[in-house]
Amino acid sequence: MSDGALRPETIAAHALRAADEATGAVAPPIYLSSTYARDGNYKPKLQENYVRNGNPTLWRAEEAIAALESGTSALLFASGMAGIATLLETVPPGAHVVAPDVMYYGTRDWMKRLEGLGRITLTLFDPRQDGALEAALQKGKTDLVWIETPLNPTWDLIDITAAASAAHAAGAILAVDATATGAVTTNPLKLGADIVFHSATKYLNGHSDVLAGVLVTREETRRWADIRMLRTRMGAPLAPLDCFLLLRGLRTVFVRYRQCSANAMAIARYFEGHPGVERVLYPGLASHPGHAIAARQMKDGFGGMMSLLVKGGFEDARKLCTRLKVIVPATSLGGVESLAEHRKTVEGPASPVPDNLVRLSIGIEHADDLIADLEQALAGV
Ligand SMILES: *Cc1c(COP(=O)(O)O)cnc(C)c1O
Repeated sequence: MSDGALRPETIAAHALRAADEATGAVAPPIYLSSTYARDGNYKPKLQENYVRNGNPTLWRAEEAIAALESGTSALLFASGMAGIATLLETVPPGAHVVAPDVMYYGTRDWMKRLEGLGRITLTLFDPRQDGALEAALQKGKTDLVWIETPLNPTWDLIDITAAASAAHAAGAILAVDATATGAVTTNPLKLGADIVFHSATKYLNGHSDVLAGVLVTREETRRWADIRMLRTRMGAPLAPLDCFLLLRGLRTVFVRYRQCSANAMAIARYFEGHPGVERVLYPGLASHPGHAIAARQMKDGFGGMMSLLVKGGFEDARKLCTRLKVIVPATSLGGVESLAEHRKTVEGPASPVPDNLVRLSIGIEHADDLIADLEQALAGV
Protein backbone atom coordinates (compact mmCIF):
# COMPACT_ATOMS: atom_id res chain seq x y z
CA MET A 1 0.00 0.00 0.00
CA SER A 2 2.83 2.42 0.73
CA ASP A 3 4.26 1.96 -2.80
CA GLY A 4 5.66 5.41 -3.54
CA ALA A 5 4.90 4.99 -7.25
CA LEU A 6 1.14 5.05 -6.73
CA ARG A 7 -0.68 8.36 -6.66
CA PRO A 8 -2.68 9.23 -3.53
CA GLU A 9 -6.06 8.81 -5.30
CA THR A 10 -5.10 5.21 -6.11
CA ILE A 11 -3.83 4.52 -2.60
CA ALA A 12 -7.13 5.77 -1.16
CA ALA A 13 -9.33 3.89 -3.64
CA HIS A 14 -7.51 0.64 -2.89
CA ALA A 15 -7.40 1.14 0.87
CA LEU A 16 -10.03 -1.55 1.30
CA ARG A 17 -8.29 -4.19 -0.80
CA ALA A 18 -7.41 -7.22 1.22
CA ALA A 19 -4.02 -8.82 0.94
CA ASP A 20 -5.99 -11.95 1.70
CA GLU A 21 -4.47 -14.51 -0.64
CA ALA A 22 -6.48 -17.31 0.94
CA THR A 23 -9.90 -15.99 -0.08
CA GLY A 24 -9.22 -13.26 -2.63
CA ALA A 25 -11.65 -11.03 -0.72
CA VAL A 26 -11.62 -7.54 -2.24
CA ALA A 27 -12.95 -5.99 0.98
CA PRO A 28 -10.92 -6.92 4.04
CA PRO A 29 -12.39 -8.99 6.85
CA ILE A 30 -13.11 -7.19 10.13
CA TYR A 31 -10.96 -8.79 12.82
CA LEU A 32 -13.14 -8.41 15.89
CA SER A 33 -11.11 -10.85 17.99
CA SER A 34 -9.78 -9.28 21.20
CA THR A 35 -6.98 -11.87 21.47
CA TYR A 36 -4.91 -14.01 19.10
CA ALA A 37 -3.60 -17.55 19.71
CA ARG A 38 0.12 -18.31 19.72
CA ASP A 39 1.64 -20.86 17.32
CA GLY A 40 3.12 -24.33 18.03
CA ASN A 41 6.36 -22.73 19.26
CA TYR A 42 4.34 -20.45 21.54
CA LYS A 43 5.29 -17.47 19.37
CA PRO A 44 2.67 -14.77 18.62
CA LYS A 45 1.43 -15.15 15.00
CA LEU A 46 0.94 -11.42 14.54
CA GLN A 47 3.07 -8.43 15.54
CA GLU A 48 0.63 -7.99 18.45
CA ASN A 49 -1.70 -10.52 20.03
CA TYR A 50 -4.06 -8.36 22.10
CA VAL A 51 -6.47 -5.81 20.64
CA ARG A 52 -5.40 -2.94 22.94
CA ASN A 53 -2.03 -3.04 21.13
CA GLY A 54 -3.60 -3.19 17.68
CA ASN A 55 -5.40 -5.46 15.24
CA PRO A 56 -5.17 -6.27 11.52
CA THR A 57 -8.05 -3.99 10.47
CA LEU A 58 -6.43 -1.10 12.36
CA TRP A 59 -3.05 -1.69 10.72
CA ARG A 60 -4.61 -1.66 7.25
CA ALA A 61 -6.23 1.72 7.93
CA GLU A 62 -3.02 3.10 9.48
CA GLU A 63 -0.95 2.00 6.47
CA ALA A 64 -3.33 3.73 4.06
CA ILE A 65 -3.37 7.00 6.05
CA ALA A 66 0.43 6.98 6.55
CA ALA A 67 0.84 6.60 2.78
CA LEU A 68 -1.62 9.44 2.05
CA GLU A 69 0.28 11.76 4.41
CA SER A 70 3.74 10.57 3.25
CA GLY A 71 4.60 9.52 6.80
CA THR A 72 6.52 6.51 8.08
CA SER A 73 3.91 5.48 10.62
CA ALA A 74 0.33 6.32 11.64
CA LEU A 75 -1.49 5.62 14.91
CA LEU A 76 -5.29 5.56 15.05
CA PHE A 77 -7.12 6.58 18.22
CA ALA A 78 -10.66 6.14 19.50
CA SER A 79 -11.22 9.89 18.91
CA GLY A 80 -9.36 12.94 17.71
CA MET A 81 -9.15 14.25 21.27
CA ALA A 82 -7.60 10.96 22.46
CA GLY A 83 -4.82 11.45 19.89
CA ILE A 84 -4.28 15.08 20.93
CA ALA A 85 -4.26 14.25 24.66
CA THR A 86 -1.77 11.44 24.02
CA LEU A 87 0.61 13.71 22.09
CA LEU A 88 0.39 16.35 24.87
CA GLU A 89 1.20 13.63 27.41
CA THR A 90 4.67 13.39 25.81
CA VAL A 91 5.51 17.05 26.59
CA PRO A 92 8.07 16.94 29.45
CA PRO A 93 6.92 18.39 32.82
CA GLY A 94 7.12 22.20 32.81
CA ALA A 95 8.03 22.43 29.12
CA HIS A 96 6.61 25.15 26.90
CA VAL A 97 3.87 24.71 24.27
CA VAL A 98 2.97 27.25 21.58
CA ALA A 99 -0.40 27.25 19.78
CA PRO A 100 -2.74 29.70 17.99
CA ASP A 101 -5.28 31.63 20.09
CA VAL A 102 -8.16 30.72 17.76
CA MET A 103 -8.30 26.99 17.00
CA TYR A 104 -10.40 23.92 17.65
CA TYR A 105 -11.71 24.78 21.12
CA GLY A 106 -11.34 21.25 22.54
CA THR A 107 -7.58 21.36 21.96
CA ARG A 108 -7.28 24.86 23.45
CA ASP A 109 -9.29 23.83 26.53
CA TRP A 110 -7.14 20.73 27.06
CA MET A 111 -3.91 22.77 26.78
CA LYS A 112 -5.29 25.33 29.24
CA ARG A 113 -6.16 22.54 31.64
CA LEU A 114 -2.57 21.22 31.51
CA GLU A 115 -1.30 24.77 32.03
CA GLY A 116 -3.66 25.24 35.01
CA LEU A 117 -2.33 22.04 36.57
CA GLY A 118 1.24 23.35 36.18
CA ARG A 119 2.23 20.52 33.82
CA ILE A 120 3.10 22.78 30.87
CA THR A 121 3.62 26.47 30.19
CA LEU A 122 1.59 27.80 27.29
CA THR A 123 1.76 30.73 24.88
CA LEU A 124 -1.17 31.34 22.55
CA PHE A 125 -0.25 33.53 19.57
CA ASP A 126 -2.34 35.56 17.12
CA PRO A 127 -1.93 33.78 13.77
CA ARG A 128 -3.02 36.91 11.85
CA GLN A 129 -0.06 38.88 13.16
CA ASP A 130 3.22 38.51 11.25
CA GLY A 131 6.04 37.18 13.41
CA ALA A 132 3.73 36.29 16.33
CA LEU A 133 4.62 32.59 16.24
CA GLU A 134 8.36 33.34 16.18
CA ALA A 135 7.97 35.80 19.08
CA ALA A 136 6.12 33.16 21.15
CA LEU A 137 8.98 30.65 20.94
CA GLN A 138 11.41 30.17 23.84
CA LYS A 139 14.62 28.68 22.55
CA GLY A 140 15.53 25.49 24.39
CA LYS A 141 12.31 25.59 26.41
CA THR A 142 9.59 25.24 23.77
CA ASP A 143 9.00 21.54 23.21
CA LEU A 144 5.94 21.55 20.97
CA VAL A 145 4.49 23.98 18.45
CA TRP A 146 0.92 23.00 17.65
CA ILE A 147 -0.77 24.70 14.73
CA GLU A 148 -4.01 24.15 12.88
CA THR A 149 -4.47 25.14 9.25
CA PRO A 150 -6.92 26.25 8.02
CA LEU A 151 -7.93 27.39 11.49
CA ASN A 152 -11.34 26.55 12.89
CA PRO A 153 -13.61 28.58 12.58
CA THR A 154 -12.06 31.64 10.89
CA TRP A 155 -10.23 29.49 8.29
CA ASP A 156 -7.11 31.62 8.62
CA LEU A 157 -3.97 30.00 7.25
CA ILE A 158 -0.60 29.35 8.86
CA ASP A 159 2.44 28.85 6.63
CA ILE A 160 3.60 25.34 7.55
CA THR A 161 7.09 25.64 6.03
CA ALA A 162 7.80 28.85 7.97
CA ALA A 163 6.32 27.41 11.19
CA ALA A 164 8.49 24.29 10.83
CA SER A 165 11.73 26.26 10.44
CA ALA A 166 10.85 28.52 13.36
CA ALA A 167 9.95 25.56 15.59
CA HIS A 168 13.09 23.63 14.65
CA ALA A 169 15.34 26.66 15.21
CA ALA A 170 13.96 26.84 18.77
CA GLY A 171 14.53 23.11 19.32
CA ALA A 172 10.80 22.24 19.21
CA ILE A 173 8.79 19.89 17.02
CA LEU A 174 5.93 21.08 14.82
CA ALA A 175 2.61 19.23 14.94
CA VAL A 176 -0.16 20.25 12.54
CA ASP A 177 -3.90 19.70 12.97
CA ALA A 178 -4.76 19.23 9.29
CA THR A 179 -8.33 18.03 9.84
CA ALA A 180 -9.78 20.61 7.44
CA THR A 181 -7.43 19.54 4.61
CA GLY A 182 -8.71 15.96 4.46
CA ALA A 183 -5.14 14.76 3.63
CA VAL A 184 -6.12 15.82 0.10
CA THR A 185 -5.12 19.43 -0.37
CA THR A 186 -2.12 19.82 1.98
CA ASN A 187 0.42 17.29 3.29
CA PRO A 188 2.17 18.97 6.25
CA LEU A 189 4.93 16.33 6.59
CA LYS A 190 6.14 17.22 3.09
CA LEU A 191 6.37 20.86 4.20
CA GLY A 192 8.59 20.15 7.20
CA ALA A 193 6.11 19.28 9.97
CA ASP A 194 7.09 16.43 12.29
CA ILE A 195 3.64 15.12 13.15
CA VAL A 196 0.30 15.58 11.40
CA PHE A 197 -3.03 15.08 13.15
CA HIS A 198 -6.52 14.50 11.78
CA SER A 199 -9.82 14.14 13.51
CA ALA A 200 -10.66 11.19 11.23
CA THR A 201 -14.26 11.72 12.37
CA LYS A 202 -14.33 14.45 9.74
CA TYR A 203 -13.13 14.28 6.09
CA LEU A 204 -11.13 11.03 6.30
CA ASN A 205 -14.27 9.08 7.22
CA GLY A 206 -16.68 11.60 5.73
CA HIS A 207 -20.00 9.92 6.54
CA SER A 208 -20.73 11.19 10.06
CA ASP A 209 -20.77 7.65 11.49
CA VAL A 210 -17.34 7.13 13.09
CA LEU A 211 -15.44 8.87 15.91
CA ALA A 212 -11.68 8.53 15.28
CA GLY A 213 -8.36 10.36 15.42
CA VAL A 214 -4.99 9.76 13.82
CA LEU A 215 -1.41 10.93 14.31
CA VAL A 216 1.13 10.42 11.51
CA THR A 217 4.88 10.89 11.99
CA ARG A 218 7.59 11.86 9.51
CA GLU A 219 10.08 9.61 11.27
CA GLU A 220 10.22 7.03 14.04
CA THR A 221 11.48 8.95 17.07
CA ARG A 222 11.67 8.25 20.79
CA ARG A 223 8.60 10.46 21.21
CA TRP A 224 6.74 8.37 18.63
CA ALA A 225 7.60 5.16 20.50
CA ASP A 226 6.23 6.87 23.62
CA ILE A 227 2.99 7.80 21.84
CA ARG A 228 2.58 4.19 20.69
CA MET A 229 3.20 2.91 24.24
CA LEU A 230 0.77 5.47 25.73
CA ARG A 231 -1.99 4.49 23.30
CA THR A 232 -1.67 0.90 24.45
CA ARG A 233 -1.35 1.71 28.15
CA MET A 234 -4.19 4.23 28.16
CA GLY A 235 -6.30 1.89 26.04
CA ALA A 236 -7.12 4.32 23.25
CA PRO A 237 -6.78 2.48 19.90
CA LEU A 238 -9.67 2.63 17.42
CA ALA A 239 -11.94 -0.43 17.61
CA PRO A 240 -11.87 -2.91 14.67
CA LEU A 241 -15.41 -2.22 13.39
CA ASP A 242 -14.73 1.53 13.34
CA CYS A 243 -11.45 0.88 11.50
CA PHE A 244 -13.41 -0.92 8.80
CA LEU A 245 -15.96 1.91 8.48
CA LEU A 246 -13.14 4.45 8.34
CA LEU A 247 -11.44 2.47 5.55
CA ARG A 248 -14.70 2.40 3.62
CA GLY A 249 -15.08 6.17 3.93
CA LEU A 250 -11.43 6.82 3.13
CA ARG A 251 -11.80 5.17 -0.28
CA THR A 252 -13.75 8.16 -1.59
CA VAL A 253 -11.94 10.97 0.23
CA PHE A 254 -10.57 12.59 -2.94
CA VAL A 255 -13.86 12.75 -4.86
CA ARG A 256 -15.71 13.90 -1.75
CA TYR A 257 -13.18 16.58 -0.87
CA ARG A 258 -13.08 17.96 -4.40
CA GLN A 259 -16.89 18.17 -4.57
CA CYS A 260 -17.06 19.83 -1.13
CA SER A 261 -14.43 22.36 -2.32
CA ALA A 262 -16.27 23.14 -5.56
CA ASN A 263 -19.59 23.61 -3.72
CA ALA A 264 -18.01 25.77 -1.03
CA MET A 265 -16.33 27.98 -3.63
CA ALA A 266 -19.67 28.50 -5.43
CA ILE A 267 -21.44 29.34 -2.16
CA ALA A 268 -18.66 31.67 -0.97
CA ARG A 269 -18.73 33.60 -4.25
CA TYR A 270 -22.53 33.81 -4.21
CA PHE A 271 -22.81 35.17 -0.66
CA GLU A 272 -19.83 37.55 -0.77
CA GLY A 273 -21.46 40.99 -0.81
CA HIS A 274 -24.95 39.57 -0.08
CA PRO A 275 -27.07 42.12 1.83
CA GLY A 276 -27.75 39.65 4.69
CA VAL A 277 -24.09 38.79 5.14
CA GLU A 278 -21.45 41.04 6.69
CA ARG A 279 -18.52 38.85 5.63
CA VAL A 280 -17.80 35.43 4.11
CA LEU A 281 -14.74 33.74 5.60
CA TYR A 282 -13.42 31.27 3.02
CA PRO A 283 -9.73 30.86 2.11
CA GLY A 284 -10.62 30.45 -1.57
CA LEU A 285 -11.82 34.07 -1.76
CA ALA A 286 -9.20 36.68 -2.67
CA SER A 287 -10.69 38.84 0.12
CA HIS A 288 -9.72 36.31 2.81
CA PRO A 289 -6.60 37.31 4.84
CA GLY A 290 -5.17 33.80 4.41
CA HIS A 291 -5.75 33.59 0.66
CA ALA A 292 -2.12 34.07 -0.43
CA ILE A 293 -0.89 31.25 1.83
CA ALA A 294 -3.89 29.10 0.92
CA ALA A 295 -3.17 29.49 -2.79
CA ARG A 296 0.35 28.13 -2.15
CA GLN A 297 -0.42 25.57 0.50
CA MET A 298 -3.79 24.10 -0.55
CA LYS A 299 -2.99 22.38 -3.81
CA ASP A 300 -6.26 20.60 -4.51
CA GLY A 301 -9.12 22.90 -3.52
CA PHE A 302 -9.82 25.17 -0.56
CA GLY A 303 -12.01 22.64 1.22
CA GLY A 304 -15.62 22.63 2.32
CA MET A 305 -15.25 24.72 5.48
CA MET A 306 -16.39 28.35 5.64
CA SER A 307 -18.04 30.76 8.03
CA LEU A 308 -20.63 33.47 7.46
CA LEU A 309 -20.63 36.59 9.62
CA VAL A 310 -24.36 37.28 9.54
CA LYS A 311 -25.59 40.90 9.55
CA GLY A 312 -26.83 41.44 13.09
CA GLY A 313 -25.69 39.69 16.24
CA PHE A 314 -25.87 36.57 18.39
CA GLU A 315 -29.64 36.00 18.00
CA ASP A 316 -29.66 36.60 14.24
CA ALA A 317 -26.89 34.06 13.66
CA ARG A 318 -28.69 31.50 15.81
CA LYS A 319 -31.94 32.18 14.00
CA LEU A 320 -30.29 31.50 10.64
CA CYS A 321 -29.31 28.03 11.87
CA THR A 322 -32.87 27.24 12.98
CA ARG A 323 -34.37 28.32 9.63
CA LEU A 324 -32.28 26.02 7.44
CA LYS A 325 -34.19 23.16 5.80
CA VAL A 326 -31.53 21.30 3.78
CA ILE A 327 -28.37 22.17 5.71
CA VAL A 328 -28.48 20.35 9.04
CA PRO A 329 -28.05 22.40 12.26
CA ALA A 330 -25.45 20.13 13.83
CA THR A 331 -21.88 20.15 15.05
CA SER A 332 -18.95 18.35 13.36
CA LEU A 333 -17.71 18.73 9.80
CA GLY A 334 -16.32 17.00 6.73
CA GLY A 335 -19.32 14.77 5.98
CA VAL A 336 -21.21 14.30 2.72
CA GLU A 337 -24.15 16.30 4.12
CA SER A 338 -23.85 20.03 4.80
CA LEU A 339 -23.95 21.19 8.44
CA ALA A 340 -24.35 24.62 10.03
CA GLU A 341 -23.40 25.65 13.54
CA HIS A 342 -23.55 28.78 15.67
CA ARG A 343 -20.14 28.44 17.29
CA LYS A 344 -20.64 30.98 20.09
CA THR A 345 -23.53 28.93 21.47
CA VAL A 346 -21.33 25.84 21.47
CA GLU A 347 -18.06 27.38 22.70
CA GLY A 348 -19.63 29.64 25.36
CA PRO A 349 -19.22 33.33 26.28
CA ALA A 350 -15.45 33.08 26.95
CA SER A 351 -14.78 32.07 23.33
CA PRO A 352 -13.02 34.61 21.06
CA VAL A 353 -15.31 33.58 18.15
CA PRO A 354 -17.57 36.45 16.91
CA ASP A 355 -21.22 36.35 18.09
CA ASN A 356 -22.56 36.51 14.53
CA LEU A 357 -20.46 33.66 13.12
CA VAL A 358 -22.18 30.65 11.56
CA ARG A 359 -19.83 27.85 10.60
CA LEU A 360 -20.74 25.86 7.51
CA SER A 361 -19.40 22.45 6.60
CA ILE A 362 -20.32 22.18 2.94
CA GLY A 363 -21.10 18.67 1.69
CA ILE A 364 -21.52 17.05 -1.71
CA GLU A 365 -25.15 18.03 -2.41
CA HIS A 366 -26.05 20.18 -5.45
CA ALA A 367 -24.64 23.65 -4.74
CA ASP A 368 -27.84 25.34 -5.98
CA ASP A 369 -29.92 23.57 -3.32
CA LEU A 370 -27.54 24.80 -0.63
CA ILE A 371 -27.56 28.37 -1.97
CA ALA A 372 -31.37 28.38 -2.11
CA ASP A 373 -31.56 27.05 1.44
CA LEU A 374 -29.23 29.77 2.78
CA GLU A 375 -31.15 32.41 0.80
CA GLN A 376 -34.50 31.43 2.29
CA ALA A 377 -33.02 31.20 5.79
CA LEU A 378 -31.31 34.62 5.52
CA ALA A 379 -34.56 36.17 4.22
CA GLY A 380 -36.22 35.39 7.56
CA VAL A 381 -33.43 36.71 9.81
C1 LIG B 1 -13.32 17.55 15.57
C2 LIG B 1 -11.98 18.14 15.67
C3 LIG B 1 -11.06 17.71 16.64
C4 LIG B 1 -11.41 16.68 17.70
O1 LIG B 1 -11.64 15.42 17.13
P1 LIG B 1 -12.74 14.37 17.69
O2 LIG B 1 -12.66 13.28 16.69
O3 LIG B 1 -14.06 15.07 17.75
O4 LIG B 1 -12.29 13.96 19.04
C5 LIG B 1 -9.79 18.28 16.62
N1 LIG B 1 -9.45 19.23 15.73
C6 LIG B 1 -10.31 19.67 14.79
C7 LIG B 1 -9.89 20.72 13.83
C8 LIG B 1 -11.60 19.14 14.73
O5 LIG B 1 -12.46 19.60 13.81
